[in-house]
Amino acid sequence: MTGKPPASPGLYIHIPFCLTRCGYCDFFSCTDTGSMGDFLQALFQEMALWHDEFPPFDTVYIGGGTPSLLCPGDMGRLLDRAREVFGILPGAEITVEANPADWGRNELRELRSLGVTRINLGVQSFDDRELEFLGRRHDSAQALAALSSARSAGFDSVGLDLIYGLPGQGFASWRASLEQALAFGPEHLSCYELELKGDTPLGLKFGKGEIEGRSEEDLREFFLKTSELAEGAGYLHYEVSNYAREPGTTSRHNRKYWDHTPYLGLGPSAHSFRGARRWWNHGSIEGYLGSLRAGEKPVRGSEDLSAAQLAFEALFLGLRMKEGIDLEEYRLRYGVDLLWEKGPQIRDREEAGLVRVISGRLCPTREGMAVADALAVL
Ligand code: SF4
Repeated sequence: MTGKPPASPGLYIHIPFCLTRCGYCDFFSCTDTGSMGDFLQALFQEMALWHDEFPPFDTVYIGGGTPSLLCPGDMGRLLDRAREVFGILPGAEITVEANPADWGRNELRELRSLGVTRINLGVQSFDDRELEFLGRRHDSAQALAALSSARSAGFDSVGLDLIYGLPGQGFASWRASLEQALAFGPEHLSCYELELKGDTPLGLKFGKGEIEGRSEEDLREFFLKTSELAEGAGYLHYEVSNYAREPGTTSRHNRKYWDHTPYLGLGPSAHSFRGARRWWNHGSIEGYLGSLRAGEKPVRGSEDLSAAQLAFEALFLGLRMKEGIDLEEYRLRYGVDLLWEKGPQIRDREEAGLVRVISGRLCPTREGMAVADALAVL
């Protein structure tokens, strides 16, 4: 074990409703909001079933789905209940995801007064044709208005998400969105590659040959240029898809997913992790409500990770972070001396310009981050 004190766990709450479904999305949500009231009651019951099983949280992340379909009053009840049941530590990071079409300045001001510290807006693009292609229900004017409302409501930590690599998207168009985002000066920025997955509407069109995907080389170029532009504007490219305006504005909650800190996920399809165990909830509203009606935790499955699986995950996730892996800490925690056991592979990747060993840390370069998912197979 490391000599560090154990980190406080994080709480994730999944709000499983969206007014419309975006063409690329494979997160769980449903468009029938009729069961929202039952869901909130069930969520309170789920919290009660976990009472006493986790120490107080120092991060809370309310995601979805679309949390901004809740009114601030319901959001307040939800946070109050989490405070009562689990405890939320002073100075906790409390993030809420929002669709730019939903909350105006008044609602955002109420959220701020409830103790929400970060707002993350799903902007995705500032180009209306791209937003339409993605199936978003907001336009660029609403995105700009939401960003400005978040600031004037008192949020000094605003994040926004963007998506690149749309079929036919030129770099100039992506650059315009990215520059617009950077000009706002968000404390946090996530840039995701568009994935045309499985049975999402865009994935199905791709499967039928109705739209073209981007080549690996194109996506790599988008990635590298994005990193150069954002770092040129002073942002820290701290994880493959994530940028922070300052070291202190990285997502404390998401870092728990990347370094095996425990977290509890509530709501349909939410995942949790503690020790070497990962478990996940029912991925349907009916299954979720049904378990809770029967007085049971809505857990649908679990897995216990072996020491080798934990070590591999830590390598995989660590090599997605600019700060990389502390080799001594890794040896103490996972029992693997990477330089000893993987020396030749690490040297190959160093020669290829993908990783560096600096001050006892194994870190990906920008080129390495571009191929991060393959990098961990040392
Ligand atoms: S709003 Fe978010 S969760 Fe809902 S469909 Fe769109 S991307 Fe998915």
